[in-house]
Amino acid sequence: MTRYDALVIGTGPGGAVTARALAEAGARVLAVEEGHWTEPGTVAPFSMDQMRRQYRNAGLTVAFGRPSVAYTEGMGVGGGSEVNSGLYHRPSRTLLDGWSRHWSIDGLTTGDLRPLSEAIEDEIGVRTLPWPMPASSQVLARGAEALGWRGFEVPRWADCREVDGQRIVEKQTMSVAYWPKAIAAGAELREGTRAVRLQLARGRARAAILEDVGTGALSRVAFDDVFVCAGAIHTPALLQRSGLGRNVGGNLSVHPTVKVTAEFDHVVNDPSDVPVYQVKEFGSRLSFGGSASRPALLALALSENWHEFREAMNRWPNLFVYYAAIQSAGRGRVRAVPGFRDPLVTYRITGDDHRLLQNGLARLMHLLRTAGATALYPSFRNAPKVTAPAGIARAAAAMSPSKSSLMTVHLCGTAPMGEDRRKCAVDSFGRLHTAPNVFVNDASMLPEAPGINPQGTVMAVAARNVAHYLSTR
Ligand SMILES: Cc1cc2nc3c(=O)[nH]c(=O)nc-3n(C[C@H](O)[C@H](O)[C@H](O)COP(=O)(O)OP(=O)(O)OC[C@H]3O[C@@H](n4cnc5c(N)ncnc54)[C@H](O)[C@@H]3O)c2cc1C
Repeated sequence: MTRYDALVIGTGPGGAVTARALAEAGARVLAVEEGHWTEPGTVAPFSMDQMRRQYRNAGLTVAFGRPSVAYTEGMGVGGGSEVNSGLYHRPSRTLLDGWSRHWSIDGLTTGDLRPLSEAIEDEIGVRTLPWPMPASSQVLARGAEALGWRGFEVPRWADCREVDGQRIVEKQTMSVAYWPKAIAAGAELREGTRAVRLQLARGRARAAILEDVGTGALSRVAFDDVFVCAGAIHTPALLQRSGLGRNVGGNLSVHPTVKVTAEFDHVVNDPSDVPVYQVKEFGSRLSFGGSASRPALLALALSENWHEFREAMNRWPNLFVYYAAIQSAGRGRVRAVPGFRDPLVTYRITGDDHRLLQNGLARLMHLLRTAGATALYPSFRNAPKVTAPAGIARAAAAMSPSKSSLMTVHLCGTAPMGEDRRKCAVDSFGRLHTAPNVFVNDASMLPEAPGINPQGTVMAVAARNVAHYLSTR
């Protein structure tokens, strides 16, 4: 049996950063990915085809609760980076200082992360658009400006250029920017391979049981160290299946999001555009932005009151979906269930969360009205159509917890890092407190959903952890 210096489980931003750094340092690395490799540029972004090929369970997954929160995860080489919007934020001093204090994390200042963030930004080409923002984003900017609210164009990791009058956008996903370099440095990558569990002996992980997803055949691989980077849902599930469940799986933290479709008297919807403007007037606790709004996704947003709302689909080019996202005080739990492939995921929205969502929905509708929306279609069960300012407060108040339809794409916190062993699963640099050669290096280790799009933070912290690992070996 081949023995590896390091096994990396999962190939999203956390796994890609980890495997590449290890391979470039000369380690013998095997990376396994349950999903498949999709050749960059061969699937239309935010299409049904993409949902089928690059999302887990075609995007249909739910954290049960009252209300439940639907969530989506990328699945395939590159993980979420392949399907996401590519919106980049650098973690702020306030965020890192707060985490360091509350979770007793060493070495997580902006000074520690800045050089790593800068290198990543350079690598994946983080920049704003070289042409005007899409109409759907200009709407938000106009509304924010009129109200005096703070907002800005969020830079993306995308190579955008104009060739012969044609706009070309090449997102710098992990399969574009990291995996080719990791493989060139010697990392071995096995797609369609699921890590079932780790085998332990004398307190250390010695091997992993792998499953060929196509045939179901099981195999065993041995390693010195293992980096679990299977994302905030599957990292805790794998650790629990391996008997490493201490402080693992609780503390799931997400950005619950409520949506509203806005109609304008002019065209705002170009299905190939990605909304880039975010309103941050209310700090990290409440933000507004645009969602992917291809016709099928528009129909989904309108489906909460399809009977009343469906005729709006006839004017779909004038429609766009916007969201209000909150930093939630609630928490969830991931539990591996014997005999089942997917874990059971639950989430508890608190009363304060619900009030903030209602408040966010009302403010977002106010913003969109100010920006010229002629009709608003909130996304909760049996929501009313809003055509006048007076209807806004009434509509937001009608969104009870049992009627709300929440979703999230930002999942964090299920193996939180820090030195407090009573609540942290891993130490300040990702090493499991209960097994010295098991590391977590993905969104699971962030102590909470950061109030910004998280991939930039996941990558910077993962780069820091793997550098620390290499320096102490
Ligand atoms: C639709 C969408 C839009 C988003 N938009 C943005 C955005 O604009 N900006 C931003 O910053 N963030 C965005 N995000 C979030 C961002 O993509 C995630 O925070 C990030 O991908 C998390 O990285 P990760 O390495 O923790 O896990 P993931 O990216 O989830 O990668 C984990 C990988 O592990 C694999 N895996 C799981 N279990 C196993 C197993 N047992 N064996 C082998 N492999 C396994 C999975 O298939 C997956 O490919 C978005 C996410 C989604 C889904």
